[in-house]
Amino acid sequence: MKPQVVIVGRPNVGKSSLVNRLAGRRIAVVEELRGVTRDRKSVEVEWRGRSFDVVDTGGWLQAGSELEDKVSKQADAALAEATLILLVVDTATGATDEDVAAARWALKSGRPIMLIANKVDDVAHEANIWEFINLGLGEPFAVSALHGRGAGDLLDKIVDFLDSHHVTPKDDAGDDILEDDDDGVLRVALIGRPNVGKSTLFNRLIGEERSVVHDMPGTTRDAIDTVIETEHGPIRFIDTAGMRKKARTERGLETYSVLRALDALDRADIAVLVIDATEGASGQDQRLAERITAAGCPSVVVLNKWELLDAETRERSLATVGDRLSFLGDAPVLKTSALTGKGVHRLLPAIIDSADDYTKRISTGRLNRAIRDLQMRHPSPTGRIRYAVQGATEPPTFTLFCSGKLPQTYLRYVERSLREAFDLGSTPLRIRVRVD
Ligand code: GDP
Ligand code: GDP
Repeated sequence: MKPQVVIVGRPNVGKSSLVNRLAGRRIAVVEELRGVTRDRKSVEVEWRGRSFDVVDTGGWLQAGSELEDKVSKQADAALAEATLILLVVDTATGATDEDVAAARWALKSGRPIMLIANKVDDVAHEANIWEFINLGLGEPFAVSALHGRGAGDLLDKIVDFLDSHHVTPKDDAGDDILEDDDDGVLRVALIGRPNVGKSTLFNRLIGEERSVVHDMPGTTRDAIDTVIETEHGPIRFIDTAGMRKKARTERGLETYSVLRALDALDRADIAVLVIDATEGASGQDQRLAERITAAGCPSVVVLNKWELLDAETRERSLATVGDRLSFLGDAPVLKTSALTGKGVHRLLPAIIDSADDYTKRISTGRLNRAIRDLQMRHPSPTGRIRYAVQGATEPPTFTLFCSGKLPQTYLRYVERSLREAFDLGSTPLRIRVRVD
């Protein structure tokens, strides 16, 4: 069983909004398609390579007067099994008796509890969290489930908690189960609309590299991953069943659905977005790119079928990438012909480079010299960075300790400068600011 993160709280504090936020937009999409809305109680969430279940107890409240009477056996069972409980409260309405009841209920389980102060939609509401300190559950953690504020930090905190408590999934005999794709091998998702040439590209890639190839069961449904051994080390391509020639003849033409691609994306370290160059980046490509950004993974863009274009259409095709996918930042854009093989040899090195940047760690000394230099070149009009540390990798995350607030434009300058100084390429970066 995966670690269980169980969400409790009185009605309307935003529990289900928080579940959706933690799970990413994917859940909403899946539910819409199946015509299910509030029914679903447990969703799988992946963050920084860790997966856990988020369980919403909201649907289990029964009619009655006191919250404690309304709680069903099912909800009690969920609490008893919780690895971590998130008790959600609403900073817009403030503390109520029902919050106290919910806290008491959660405490009875004896499981660890984190207090989540929801609806902190902006800095102005930050101060509202302190009245909940009276619940006796420690410092409230401020988020806005609606706008996503603090969601990434909360996911970090959950994963840190799971890591520090050595929570490893157990099988029935109580032995640890290692998730079968959590083997440290770089995981790559090849995504794109149907017919852009993903299968052709993938099979070409395998052929080009003359690599050793093996199929492994993926983690979801009937997924099959392909691990290839390359001169750069092993690379795991996620959910390739629909792309392998063999699989095609055995099962008929299986299209790689977009929803399925989104699943793959959630398990990926790197996303390769394949685009049909003859059509250029479309609205659907744009939505896929948005999802890549939301998943926080670095990407490589591939303009395939490049050989079909002449000089003029090439320029137009490239321009659509700049127009439509600009928020992918400076993701490398490769031009390939999967059909002839031209340009395909650049793909693996581009993937490896992106992975290197994503996992890069900068020493505190070098980082602070860079911070000093960039402040000397351009001091901020307000505030000053006193020092900085890299708090995390994947993606590289820098915390700036500042005296006074820095303008947004200045933060962008800092990001650009660090990217250049440490050759971080196009990898997503996170900058956090602590003002004292
Ligand atoms: P639940 O009953 O605890 O599952 O609460 P819901 O998730 O259904 O949310 C209740 C209401 O609060 C809905 O109208 C949400 O749109 C709203 N809501 C949830 N999270 C936030 C938030 O972070 N900020 C604001 N302003 N509203 C929120
Ligand atoms: P998928 O649905 O994204 O996996 O796309 P396929 O790999 O099945 O390719 C769809 C069609 O595009 C097939 O007819 C391929 O032969 C063709 N195709 C793939 N790559 C190229 C390319 O680089 N150039 C040209 N001209 N056709 C290609």
